[in-house]
Amino acid sequence: MNINFKSKKALVRVDFNVPLNDDFSVGDDTRMKGALPTINHILSEGGAVILMSHLGRPLKKLKEDGSVDRQRFTLHHIVSHLSSLLGIPVKFSDQTVGPKASELAAGLQPGEVLVLENTRFQKEEKKGDQAFARQLADLADVYVNDAFGTAHRAHASTTTVAQFFNTADRCFGFLIEKELKNADRILNNPTRPMTAIIGGAKVSDKILLLDKLLDAVDNMLIGGGMAYTFIKAQGGQIGKSLVEEDKLDLALQLLAKAKKKNITILLPEDSVIADAFSESANHKIAPSASIPGEWMGLDIGPKARKAFSEVILQSETILWNGPMGVFEMEAFANGTKTIAQAVAESTSDGTFSLIGGGDSVAAINQLGLTEEVSYVSTGGGAMLELLEGKTLPGIKAIQEG
Ligand code: AMP
Repeated sequence: MNINFKSKKALVRVDFNVPLNDDFSVGDDTRMKGALPTINHILSEGGAVILMSHLGRPLKKLKEDGSVDRQRFTLHHIVSHLSSLLGIPVKFSDQTVGPKASELAAGLQPGEVLVLENTRFQKEEKKGDQAFARQLADLADVYVNDAFGTAHRAHASTTTVAQFFNTADRCFGFLIEKELKNADRILNNPTRPMTAIIGGAKVSDKILLLDKLLDAVDNMLIGGGMAYTFIKAQGGQIGKSLVEEDKLDLALQLLAKAKKKNITILLPEDSVIADAFSESANHKIAPSASIPGEWMGLDIGPKARKAFSEVILQSETILWNGPMGVFEMEAFANGTKTIAQAVAESTSDGTFSLIGGGDSVAAINQLGLTEEVSYVSTGGGAMLELLEGKTLPGIKAIQEG
């Protein structure tokens, strides 16, 4: 953060899209805590902070009469929690922009914090509307984007607004800086050998990622539901396992690309198979390429766990995206657990490990291993796009405008 915030009003885009309890209290404040270093830094330099964020999808979940459910989606729900995290009172504007918001922003003193109403109450937000962004920009002297989770969206508060500030008056917050630095360690000159562990449900969600990573990695471990499309493509019998018939050719192409580039791709040699997609299903171990007709692979088996772990322990850089099985069900969580433990063990030997993408993040958290890996990304979709080699609009807007 290369701005001197003394006596400045900083418009800060944060990701306070937190889960709420039934009584609208904050259910999980991880995202709020992620923004604290940036907020505290600005305050400690003698600046004032105007926070903006979205919360939920108010325009998708309208009331029966077609109006916005302001009571449910108001950002006011997070204000008292934020106040206790910061240890100071926090002001709230029930307008995102408008005369009241302008008045509150104008009266804000150094060391004070103001939260603006949910940016997504305005349809202009998602459209990246210029006039709305201009109104937001007029509230402050400088702009800080610290919402990594929405950096892949070209919205008014994440992208358009940046153009109304000079290059010297806009910057990333600490959270985005950290995310970019860690992604960079994977994308540019990683310490080798580098291994990508890719799992989750579908190949189709991760085509670009798989393809791009085949230009970067030494090893690729493929688990989860998506592995069975690869196994079937190679002639395996996968029973009722998840498969995307229209991606069989693509799977073969990816395998051919890997071979040409001398990249080791490991598919699970064995699987935990079940006779139903259920926690209480009968289950047993079988070779992944010989799954009986009515059975389905729901986790990687013990041989696969061992083979994957050996590669993980020999790696110097690891990227993990997607669980190895249906980890939400205890009976099919062991593959994901073993891999998480192997990643943690490798990290303790000095390996750089980045966990990026929704469900592998949930798995690492669930296992209490968050502190045992090098970095857990806060932005599932944004990190995925970054690793796919895409330019994120929110990042570009700060860097290039
Ligand atoms: P993704 O969001 O693509 O990372 O997918 C995560 C989802 O994939 C989780 O909900 C897992 O339960 C699911 N999943 C993982 N392995 C399998 C499998 N073998 N069969 C079906 N679903 C799976």
